[in-house]
Amino acid sequence: MPQIVLKLSNEKVMEMLRHYKPFLKSTPAGAVFSAKTINCSITAYKSGKVLFQGKNPEMEADKWGKAVGPSSEKPSAVHAFHPPASLYRQSHIGSDEAGTGDYFGPITVAAAYIRSEQFSLLEELGVKDSKNLTDEKIKKIAKELIKEKIPYSLVILHNEKYNRLQRKGWSQGKMKAMLHHHAIRNLLEKISPEKPQGILVDQFAEPRIYINHLKTEGAKIQQDIYFQTKAESYSLAVAAGSIIARASFVNEMEKLSQKTGMELPKGASKKVDEAAASLIDKFGMSKLEEVAKVHFATTKKAEIIAGYES
Ligand code: MG
Repeated sequence: MPQIVLKLSNEKVMEMLRHYKPFLKSTPAGAVFSAKTINCSITAYKSGKVLFQGKNPEMEADKWGKAVGPSSEKPSAVHAFHPPASLYRQSHIGSDEAGTGDYFGPITVAAAYIRSEQFSLLEELGVKDSKNLTDEKIKKIAKELIKEKIPYSLVILHNEKYNRLQRKGWSQGKMKAMLHHHAIRNLLEKISPEKPQGILVDQFAEPRIYINHLKTEGAKIQQDIYFQTKAESYSLAVAAGSIIARASFVNEMEKLSQKTGMELPKGASKKVDEAAASLIDKFGMSKLEEVAKVHFATTKKAEIIAGYES
């Protein structure tokens, strides 16, 4: 279906709203309005993005402005749950996870609530995209955040439960969706009656897929929730969540290394395959259930190295 995206000012969007009044439909979450004419459907989002989609989108779009080129904006970046730019400086919750690509160790998800007056403090503490920070630095900042009593909620999916859910047919995406949902729910309870201006999840799946995962478990998406890829580089709340999640993951990995008496490497690599093989040698296959995500290809490779298969 042909589509055109425009980026328009608030005034322009309000003008459109008046213009399309006879054609309004129910407004989806995150949108200012939605309308349908004989040419196309029109959805205007709070971010100022307006999506024209249908038979002849240009017939409507041309009335309002020049299209955002495909090179400057991927269509997938435009969905009803994209946050308005104003959110980054408002009091909001940010949520991110760690450990999803690591063979050893749990998945950790943390949501953090940052009030607008705390942004400068977070900048002073060095809160930024955790991918650019060392684990040592992350642990240090996480401690500072806790000392400053930043409200947060951390949920950990340990390996035994992870493997159980995986066998039950849960995708990692569904696990992540439910973990984010729980972290956010816990945090909303914690800060109640205070309400955030919005909630931003570092996007790992299309919002409709996230919502579907929740539905299959009878859960409903929270109000004013937004999704954005690489959100930790836009939102200090997501960056704070990311740091807490990563610090917890590192801490859990240290515990597992202590428990097994072996240095368990992070990530997934040849080094990880070999560590898994030594673990099988030392404790047998069943130990992997407690310390690893056993459906990863690493398990097969480790079995071969350990001589369980040839
Ligand atoms: Mg993330």
